[in-house]
Amino acid sequence: MNLSSSKTNIQITADSFVDDRLQMLENLVGNMDALVYCNLYDEFWTMIFASAGCKDLTGYNPNDLIFNNLISYEKITFEKDRKMVRDKIDEAVKLGTRFEIEYRIQHANGSIIWVSERGNPIYNDQGQIHAIKGLIQNITKRKNIEQSLRDTESRYRSIFENAIEGIFQTSPNGRYLMVNPALARMYGYNSPEDLISALNNIQQQLYVASGRREEFVQAIENHQNVQNFESLVYKKDGSTIWISENARMVYDEVGVLLYYEGTVEDITARKSYDAQLEHQATHDSLTGLPNRYMLNDRLQQCINFADRYKNKIAVAFIDLDQFKLINDSMGHEVGDQLLLIMSQRLSSCVREIDTVVRLGGDEFVILITNIDNVNDISLSMQRILTSVAEPCMINELDYLVTCSVGISIYPDDGVEPNALLKNADSAMYKAKKAGRNNYQIYTKALNKALTERVMMEYKLRLAIEHDEFLLYYQPKVDFATGLISGAEALIRWQPPGEELIEPMRFIQIAEETGLIEKIGEWVLTTACKKAKELKEKTGRPFPIAVNVSPRQFRQPNLAETIKQILEATELDSDCLELEITESTLIDDAAKFIETLHSLKKIGVKLAIDDFGTGYSSLAYLKDFPIDRLKIDKAFVSSLEKDPANMAILKAIIVLGQSLGMKVIAEGVETGYQYDYLKSIGCDELQGYYFSKPLPEIGLEALVMNQSKLK
Ligand code: C2E
Ligand code: CA
Ligand code: CA
Repeated sequence: MNLSSSKTNIQITADSFVDDRLQMLENLVGNMDALVYCNLYDEFWTMIFASAGCKDLTGYNPNDLIFNNLISYEKITFEKDRKMVRDKIDEAVKLGTRFEIEYRIQHANGSIIWVSERGNPIYNDQGQIHAIKGLIQNITKRKNIEQSLRDTESRYRSIFENAIEGIFQTSPNGRYLMVNPALARMYGYNSPEDLISALNNIQQQLYVASGRREEFVQAIENHQNVQNFESLVYKKDGSTIWISENARMVYDEVGVLLYYEGTVEDITARKSYDAQLEHQATHDSLTGLPNRYMLNDRLQQCINFADRYKNKIAVAFIDLDQFKLINDSMGHEVGDQLLLIMSQRLSSCVREIDTVVRLGGDEFVILITNIDNVNDISLSMQRILTSVAEPCMINELDYLVTCSVGISIYPDDGVEPNALLKNADSAMYKAKKAGRNNYQIYTKALNKALTERVMMEYKLRLAIEHDEFLLYYQPKVDFATGLISGAEALIRWQPPGEELIEPMRFIQIAEETGLIEKIGEWVLTTACKKAKELKEKTGRPFPIAVNVSPRQFRQPNLAETIKQILEATELDSDCLELEITESTLIDDAAKFIETLHSLKKIGVKLAIDDFGTGYSSLAYLKDFPIDRLKIDKAFVSSLEKDPANMAILKAIIVLGQSLGMKVIAEGVETGYQYDYLKSIGCDELQGYYFSKPLPEIGLEALVMNQSKLK
């Protein structure tokens, strides 16, 4: 065989074994799916040997190429690759090394074929390059595959590079392996490289919430992937954005975790919209304070916090005392202004960490956390009371508002939000009762009172059904004649087998529960019957006065009901007088006056009870169609002790009479009081001095055998 033509004298003359081997090699080379060659190192790559594989590879027979018979190998080499091939071989020749080159040739049929050539230079004894020999294989198939891989890769790369979503690969220990430009941009870095080199501790540098990376890893390990994993993250400049991540784990063939890979979306805009919606749903639009929907959440958070740090929380329930009056009389704009100012004052009375909630209307709740000592609360409360009570300037008018505060303490007064709020609320009522502008702390005793109240309410309902009420009557006396001029009906409750119950103990409950409406109707009917009866017995009209509670007064059909009662009992309407307390007026002055007129139309008499204690300003008085003013007994009873009341009594009498009203003094107990009132021209009196409230037989006896008072 002629592997190397430089050794042309390798004519085998040795034994047949060598012959066989050569034969075998020749066969082998001839059958190889490649071109085995030997070229001269010249400008044509003149081939001096080409194996049979030449035909397959180039489309030419070996003889076409040998000594460039038909075409030279240089010519076959694809034009654009020729220089590169020569450079590579030149270099190998210079260095005396093997070479391996991939390039293209042009097949006899015109097609372009990728080949791989591996060879080495051959030198003569003087070390001069003589020829090169080697092997050329068709690698077109592999090249095509590579190309299509490259195409695919570049398609994917283009997606990667141009995606709007961020794409990343991160190592399990929290470093970026690869990110796309979108992610770099999203996080505020100049380039992916910038991000990868600068952001090397994902937990510390990226996530705002501590432990968020661990949660990410935990989630991905539990489910092999995470979806819509939303977090607040830092950008390079320290600002934050909200992102949503979708990611999975990537393993190698043997199941070793390589990295996490996934996508990131900037959801800041959506989040802030969500947050805005949430803010609207959880905050009061007027004051911007959290609203009642937020309260439970906040309170629960505070409870968790208190449990952790083993301290207490105060839940303060705040109600503005005069808000309704101002809102109704001065208009809602002033009311809104007032609420706004109050909400700011309340907020400024507590620390940042405390929560001020507007429950609605003029009710607020403040959560004060971190209380070690219950006495701490009184300081905060004092601040709140003082701050709220300061004059409040709206449209150049000063308004004075106070508040009543009820407080419950966690965990002393309840362990869950609803109980705490309920208890704070009932403590607030206690504060109202105690005269407003003060605070009360819910206590077990208060709770007991509450239970008693519930019991009372229950019994009161039954009392109506079982007809357990009765009326006492307290006569009124005319100063001028000294004769009884009528009587006031005063209710009593006689539960079977128990002591008689005074109205002070149950009227308020009846009022709050609405039972007063039924009870009131019963009182009116019974009193009217009595008056009618006494008229028949004495032959003279007998005026009867009945107390009408605020709630009763606000019943829309009150006038109609009274009309029907008068008809049913056949009592002349001017024999019935309704006593209305000033406090009834607080809620709505216009409505109050309207109702007075509708009652006046029926022909009944009207009296303002407990005059001087309520809120009715004298300015209103002239608009009231009122027949009588009943001076509150407080002014009368303290007459001896407090001579200043003399002037007040005198003024009320002058005022009432000048408006065409009669003035009656109640609670007259002593001769001194009697004399003084008579001396200043008071019209009538009522009081123990003349008679206590009497059961009906007692009244009847007194009226039938009437003797003149003094
Ligand atoms: P009021 O309308 O101011 O009634 C006067 C109260 O003063 C009565 O108490 C009466 O017994 C008491 N009193 C009368 N003279 C004197 C006196 O000289 N000295 C003192 N210290 N007290 C005197 P009473 O009967 O316990 O009634 C208390 C309150 O209960 C009444 O105050 C009234 O607001 C309410 N009330 C009574 N009956 C009814 C009713 O039928 N309906 C409604 N809605 N309320 C009623
Ligand atoms: Ca009365
Ligand atoms: Ca009274």
